Amino acid sequence: MTIMLPGAPHLARVAGALTLDGVDLDMLGRQFGTPLFVYSQRSMLDAAVAYQRALVGRPHLVCYAMKANSNLAVLQTFASAGCGFDIVSGGELERVLAAGGQPGHIVFSGVGKTRAEMQQALAVGVRCFNVESESELHRLSQVAVAMGRVAPVSLRVNPDVDAGTHPYISTGLRDNKFGVAHEQAVQVYRVAASLPGLKVVGIDCHIGSQITHSSPYLDALDRLLDLVEAVEAEGIAIAHVDLGGGLGITYTDERPPRADELVAAMLARLDARGHGHREVLLEPGRSLVGNAGVLLTEVQYLKPGAAKNFCIVDAAMNDLLRPALYQAWMAIEPCRQRSGDALHWDVVGPVCESGDWLGRDRSLAVVEGDLLAVLSAGAYGMAMASNYNTRPRAAEVMIVDGQPVLVREREQASTLFAGERLLPAPR
Ligand SMILES: *Cc1c(COP(=O)(O)O)cnc(C)c1O
Repeated sequence: MTIMLPGAPHLARVAGALTLDGVDLDMLGRQFGTPLFVYSQRSMLDAAVAYQRALVGRPHLVCYAMKANSNLAVLQTFASAGCGFDIVSGGELERVLAAGGQPGHIVFSGVGKTRAEMQQALAVGVRCFNVESESELHRLSQVAVAMGRVAPVSLRVNPDVDAGTHPYISTGLRDNKFGVAHEQAVQVYRVAASLPGLKVVGIDCHIGSQITHSSPYLDALDRLLDLVEAVEAEGIAIAHVDLGGGLGITYTDERPPRADELVAAMLARLDARGHGHREVLLEPGRSLVGNAGVLLTEVQYLKPGAAKNFCIVDAAMNDLLRPALYQAWMAIEPCRQRSGDALHWDVVGPVCESGDWLGRDRSLAVVEGDLLAVLSAGAYGMAMASNYNTRPRAAEVMIVDGQPVLVREREQASTLFAGERLLPAPR
């Protein structure tokens, strides 16, 4: 019997075995070792196409927000699908160029761009800087003039709408650090238009992450279009409207709109307000990769107790931070279903922190040595991994046309301290 799992279109249970794109995950974990991230390329491509399908016939660019998962093979996958990229650092710029991304399809976001990062981005010719403050405008203009360049800019406006998501991933409220306040935006556009090293090309917002309703997007779009009209009334042309990313995925019972539904609703609003001719940019991250990935981990020890039962696995908060950071709930499935009694387990890692858990109070029938899969781990999983406790980061495998391809080797402990130096011997 094949059982489809919610929110994970490419995962199935076939005769008790959990599969991704038809590949048996238990066998994959034994072959490549654990902890192991596994991604379905098919799932990533399908997610990108859902956005693109809705934008056919319009000038548009879907810029993958690569901080969600910046593996080179993931970037290569989206570049081949015609996506651009949303970057937030000079390091991400180097990465995306190494993966074959085109500079002219890159938008550069982030509140703290350094001069060096600006120079790096101007030298390769990124498509646009999403500028987040008036000070940044002045700095960017100076850097561009010194290089004999003109920097294309869009202002990231803070529309002051509530995305209805976790406070750590809500970015469009007045008291967030992100963007230029709505009330100041027209004035800041005047400054941008007056500076010699800049050319205004667009407007931008990004209101948060894991958003599960269309209404905050439509509210933000309305606020943005009010500004576009006010700014253009001053003779400053705005070519593109960038609505950011943030669309949620199903981790448990969330029912976010489908990407094509959301985009259709946005386009209808643009048309209704007479802005249908504008180029539309989007910056999805999580919704392109989240459901495409799983984290495989092996059960090391079972420790039943009076108050709680602990299932200690070989993946930890350094591999997958979301549960510890946001109390995020992520589904955990055994790679092989076993008969026998399920108990309630707290699935925890070996790191020396009580916050080191992957799931709490999960009903599982497991024995030591079994493999578990944490689902929906394709976004903000490996990208947030650290080396805390001198734990080498996991390997990554991508399933391409039904075949597993190793796309990142498991780290070695020795490389983690290769750049460190012992003190000189005392004289
Ligand atoms: C993180 C981020 C995104 C992507 O957010 P998701 O929730 O992963 O879609 C897009 N734009 C900017 C500026 C971001 O910082």
